[in-house]
Parts: sequence; structure tokens; C-alpha cells
Amino acid sequence: MKGKILETENLTVNFDGFKALNNLNFNMEVGELRVVIGPNGAGKTTFLDTITGKVQPTEGRVLFKGRNLRGVPEHQIVRLGIGRKFQTPRVYLNLTPRENLELACNRQKNVFATLFSRPPLSDRQQILSLLETIGLVSKADIAAGLLSHGEKQRLEIGMLVAQSPDLLLVDEPVAGLTDEETAQIGDLLLALAESHSILVIEHDMEFVRQIARKVTVLHEGSVLYEGTIEQVQNDPKVIEVYLGQKPSINAQQMKMIRIVAAMAWADGQLAPEEIDVMLVRLSQMFASDREQQKELQLELRNYIAANVAVDNLVAEIDSDAEREQLLKIAYDVIQSSARSPSEPVINEDEAAAYQQLVKMLNLPPEVVQRVEAKATQS
Ligand code: ADP
Ligand code: MG
Repeated sequence: MKGKILETENLTVNFDGFKALNNLNFNMEVGELRVVIGPNGAGKTTFLDTITGKVQPTEGRVLFKGRNLRGVPEHQIVRLGIGRKFQTPRVYLNLTPRENLELACNRQKNVFATLFSRPPLSDRQQILSLLETIGLVSKADIAAGLLSHGEKQRLEIGMLVAQSPDLLLVDEPVAGLTDEETAQIGDLLLALAESHSILVIEHDMEFVRQIARKVTVLHEGSVLYEGTIEQVQNDPKVIEVYLGQKPSINAQQMKMIRIVAAMAWADGQLAPEEIDVMLVRLSQMFASDREQQKELQLELRNYIAANVAVDNLVAEIDSDAEREQLLKIAYDVIQSSARSPSEPVINEDEAAAYQQLVKMLNLPPEVVQRVEAKATQS
């Protein structure tokens, strides 16, 4: 039997009358990779703070491998085997990645002792294998200050692993990273998950999709829902909580996005090309300024990831102009998936879903023809 690496029982943290955590019951198995998500203010950071001993619970307790952490000081918790990676990288910028890892392997020694003595062979081998894991072999001996943001994040994850913790806590590792860097962090965490217990806090839904097995949704300091990413994204409570805090998109926009996403989803998967076309079109329709469009695209990405089944939404789009707009976006999306190199034909399910949408929109045939002809030309 493997047992639980981490449990919390009725965990409550009261900040001057405000409960940042409220009777939180959580547990994860040894060897598990768990992702915790939740809107801003849900209590995610406070949750990590109680595990690492930075914040003491007002009520309830945290158990690490069955041991109650109440009153155990932070540095001792680190020694017990809980390592935490903070949002911003904390690497020594004028040392090389290799030196940073050497330091992390030798936390008990001081900086100078580590730098001026050759590390033992076993450490050197461990560091080389870590450099391979984090994909920094070719940059092992340049100053860490020259690394990209994503590389620094990978280095810091490597430094965390070098301390051989039993449980890795990782707070928003992909904030501010490019798509490619994000995917690399995802691959790294998946590789580490083969031999570590990892708890990841994350906002970026696409990233969560990439790495998640079991997801816990926090809301107002308690567990709102727990399940696979698919279950989470289809749970009405979760959707409400997430949508509730996105004020810059109105209900009508939301409906259009849901309709188009549901159509594109008819074959069970949304191709990246389809998402891109939707995002660009919708953001251009609803925002004029470039920055605003970019912001909206980011938001929309999360909406689309929270793919929801549509019921009678089309009936609620009542202006003809909006119906025509919707048809145009839907047709573009169908066309874009037909251009996908991996599957260069219109998928039958999608085509059927599109035909159904056309029927529901109930536009005059000449309008449909005009929209389709125009879209095909451009
Ligand atoms: P998340 O990380 O999910 O965004 P946090 O754990 O940072 O949420 O915060 C949860 C809530 O607790 C927020 O409303 C925040 O304002 C509040 N909070 C966090 N830390 C403190 C503190 N030290 N004192 C008072 N309120 C706090
Ligand atoms: Mg936070």
C-alpha cells in the first residue's frame, strides 16, 4: 500500500475574520501528480502556505506522510521533505545552471564551500542527469542570467528536485511563458511525476489539460469539485465560478463562443487551428484595440477550454446581424479544420454539426450562400 503523502482535515485559516481557507479537506496519494485550480482569491496560495508552515491554520490540520505539521517550523518542514517552487524564479543569476544545481544539492554547506570544492562524483552524476531532465545540458556553463524565462523556471524546478523532496509544491509555473516554453514545463513535470509526488497550482487551462490527471477546484477556501479535467470543465458549478469572474466578456459573446466551440467539438476534439481562428475572429469582433484583443484572446482560450454542451443557445441569438456573424465564424472554423495538415478534410461530425447550426439559425438561403461564398474567397 502506498498511502497518502498529504492530507488536510477541516483546514481553516482566518485572516481577521476572513476565511481564506474554510474547512478544506484534501488528500493526495504518494506518487500522484495533482493540479489545483481556482479563481483569484480562492485560497490556493494560502493552501500552499499552510503546507509549508508559512501560515498556521486557525483550525484543522495538515498531515504529511501521516505526520501532523502543526507547530513545525518552516525550515524543518523543508527537511521533512516538502519542497516549494515559487512563482518567480529564485536562481543565482551570475552562477551557471550547473553551479546553481550544485548549490541546491548541498543546501547544508555554504555557498563558498560548494563553489571552491569539487562536488563528489555521485553529486556530479546526479547534476548531469538533472541537467538532462531539465533540458539545459547545452547551457550548463553559461551564466543563468542569460537563460530565457522558461529556462530559468526549468532550472529552478531542477534545483527543487536536487534537494530530493518527497513532495514538490509548484505555484503557477507557466505564468508569463510562451506556448512553447509552457509545453516544455509540462513535459518536465510529467517526466518528474514518474518518480515524485507533485502538487501544482495553475491558472492556465491549456497547461492544466496537458498535465492533469486529477484536478481539484478550490473556491472560497473549500474544495468545490474534484475529478478529471473533462469532468471539471463540464461541471456547471465550476463553469459558473470561472465565468462569474470574467467581466470583460458579455453574455451574448459567451453564447456565440459556446455555440461555435460546441460545433467544432462535434468530433470530440478542437484542433489548434480551429481555436486560433475562433480566437482571432471573436477578439476582432468584440475589441478594437490590439492590446484588448490580445487580452480577450487569452480569456477566450480559457472559455473554450471549459467546453460546455449547448442547449437552445442559438435561439437566444435574436438579431439577424448576430446570426449572420455567428454563421460566418462557424463556417470559418469548419474551413480552418479542413486546412489542418493532420486531417485535411472536413470532418463528417463537424459538417453535420455545421449543417444543424445553419438550420437552427434559420437564415434565408441566399444569406447562407452569400456568407459561405464570401468566406471561401477570402
Ligand atoms: P489565490 O492564491 O487562490 O488567488 P490567496 O490564497 O492568495 O488566493 O488568497 C485568498 C484570500 O485571502 C484572498 O481574498 C486574499 O485577499 C486573502 N488573504 C491572503 N493572505 C492574506 C493575509 N495575509 N491577510 C488577509 N487576507 C489575506
Ligand atoms: Mg495565488
